[in-house]
Amino acid sequence: MSVVGIVPAAGSGERLGSVGPKAFVVCGGRELIDWSLDALRSVCDRVVVAAPSGYEDPSRDFLRGGAVRSESVRLALAAAPEATIAVVHDAARPLLTPELARACIDALVPGVDGAIAAAAMTDTVKEAGDGGVVERTLDRSRLWRIQTPQVFRADVLRRALDVSDAALAAATDDAALVEAAGGVVRVVEAPADNLKVTRPVDLALAEMLLAAREA
Ligand code: C5P
Repeated sequence: MSVVGIVPAAGSGERLGSVGPKAFVVCGGRELIDWSLDALRSVCDRVVVAAPSGYEDPSRDFLRGGAVRSESVRLALAAAPEATIAVVHDAARPLLTPELARACIDALVPGVDGAIAAAAMTDTVKEAGDGGVVERTLDRSRLWRIQTPQVFRADVLRRALDVSDAALAAATDDAALVEAAGGVVRVVEAPADNLKVTRPVDLALAEMLLAAREA
């Protein structure tokens, strides 16, 4: 068994408004991606990073990412043909713990193709149409907010990623592609602080939480 971490980190960070790519902004005294790499390296045999143009570094397994997130995942996975289990984790989630990554790996029991970190829905969720008019209220007891890590049998993920550019671009996570290919995916409840850095407020919050964790 070869467990390979796959880190899509090739995004620009437009919504964060950062000067450089988001994965490389400083957060808690180090580049955002470094927090995830520490956690992943403690549970994976190897970690491959899909990096933005200009950040490639073969000595650290940083290769050039793609135009969309799923293409970055596909390129990184293609560089690791030895992988039997793929642990996909966004560089934008620096609060990953080895325990959560391990819990997702352990959830990949026979009959399960993917195990994905998720948070139970605590807000009420409604669907609204034109003019913000509410059309229905969803049953939140069955809803999950999906995060990373997302752990897959690598052969299943390779097949799921072997789709058109349009299908890749439409996928907001890898599990959706595995589901579309008929794979069985289950959720693994994540700790409340496994947040994604998207906007400046997320970066400030991540810094506070990382400092508290380090103290
Ligand atoms: O933009 P968003 O935060 O949803 O991106 C999720 C992750 O996907 C980030 O870590 C980002 O760097 C990565 N990504 C990528 N290649 C792209 C776009 C995003 O690796 N072309």
